Amino acid sequence: MEKLLNEISSECKAAFNVNCDVESDLNIPQNYKRNADLGLPCVAENDLLRHFTNLSRKNYALSTTFYPLGSCTMKYNPLINEKIAGFDGFNCIHPSQPAETIQGALELIHNLEKDLCEVSGMDYFSLQPAAGAQGEFAGLLIIAKYFKSIKQKRTKIIVPDSAHGTNPASAAYAGFEIMPLKSESDGSLSAQKVKELLTPEVAAIMLTVPNTLGVFEKEISEIAKASHENGTLLYYDGANLNALMGMVRPGDLGFDVIHINLHKTFSTPHGGGGPGAGPVGVKAFLEHFLPVPRVENKNSKFVLNYKKSKSIGKVRAFFGNFPVLVKAYAYIKALGAKGLKNASVQAVLNANYMLAKFKDKINVPAGSRCMHEFVLSPKSVLQNGVRTVDIAKRLLDYGYYAPTVYFPLIVEEAIMIEPTETESKETLDKFVETLNKIILDEAVNEPHKVKDAPVNTPVKRLNEVEAARKPILKWSG
Ligand SMILES: *Cc1c(COP(=O)(O)O)cnc(C)c1O
Repeated sequence: MEKLLNEISSECKAAFNVNCDVESDLNIPQNYKRNADLGLPCVAENDLLRHFTNLSRKNYALSTTFYPLGSCTMKYNPLINEKIAGFDGFNCIHPSQPAETIQGALELIHNLEKDLCEVSGMDYFSLQPAAGAQGEFAGLLIIAKYFKSIKQKRTKIIVPDSAHGTNPASAAYAGFEIMPLKSESDGSLSAQKVKELLTPEVAAIMLTVPNTLGVFEKEISEIAKASHENGTLLYYDGANLNALMGMVRPGDLGFDVIHINLHKTFSTPHGGGGPGAGPVGVKAFLEHFLPVPRVENKNSKFVLNYKKSKSIGKVRAFFGNFPVLVKAYAYIKALGAKGLKNASVQAVLNANYMLAKFKDKINVPAGSRCMHEFVLSPKSVLQNGVRTVDIAKRLLDYGYYAPTVYFPLIVEEAIMIEPTETESKETLDKFVETLNKIILDEAVNEPHKVKDAPVNTPVKRLNEVEAARKPILKWSG
């Protein structure tokens, strides 16, 4: 067990003191100065270095392990993007500076907005939201404000039962009532069922394309047409854009409002939960409602426009998570249109390659073809009371990060796998072989191994709810 820094701390230890010739108390008024010691642990440099290196080794990371976390698009995040986001010109500016002094940063925001429009077929974007879920929330506020402006009382949002949990949560948080839409056995939606739900109160329908089972909605055109005829808007959850780049654009499919998860499709490390960016995009008739400030190009100068009377206001401080925007822009420029398309083609190919290797052995509810991810339902082959959670834990013993499990909710014992475009055939083969071995061999012949897993990890099986029920938030050493 790695000890806490407080536990290895002692008064007589101290890091070697590097003299600094900058006066540390420069300009700080006396009343702002600390008068008690900070109480930081005292350790030698190498102890500190080893502490954090050892801790990092106990973790699973994309840089050490295949990370097939469905829906999360754990692709390679080019390290050069970190370097670019750290350039002084990006890193040493402050968002409160006058616009004239941050023209480069504003130009990047402006250009990224244009690129996202090109990739998605939308007319305008705000890059402010800090995550996909916040993009959804901003998008729904835009929808609410739009209907208010045209004096229509629409209080309901249709959300399929296959949707990510953030969809109904965002809609409820924005003040709407949810109308659940049941998906078909292959996870797709029936235009007929959508039509039956379309009443004059329906403000929007939220769709994920390809859906969370990795299937493209075949009836999307009919769904879009029927919704628009009813005056209902179409919301696109763009978390799965990694499957479509350069092939299909949500804007062309009829979507009015969308969000894109830059940290997923456009490569920012997001394994620890952030930071991300969830730009919200709209068709031209909704532009007035986007968050302020808008970055506009006036006579070859970039200006910040706060004067948008119909805007939903601000959803995040300043311009959003700017370094994530820089990384996405660097990624888009490095790959270009051809490269982005190729990324999606390869992502879909990799997923289908894996699916083909599973499909004769383990049930795939959505059928034998997929987009960039797929969902297995091992229920019928699992024996001895072994469940998907056990399979996921056993994968940790083999050094893998576990796939997404029990999502989407409509698939029993779901295992959702997204390999992404940046993995080699050898990695995919090895993972398929391991997962098949756990499900079809170990769970049948040595079930205790699976039920007791993990045994090779720094901590064994955890109580999954205790941390939430009995949080220990203070170190009491
Ligand atoms: C990841 C994801 C979201 C939420 O995005 P965050 O950036 O995690 O807030 C929404 N929908 C789907 C389908 C997702 O995969």
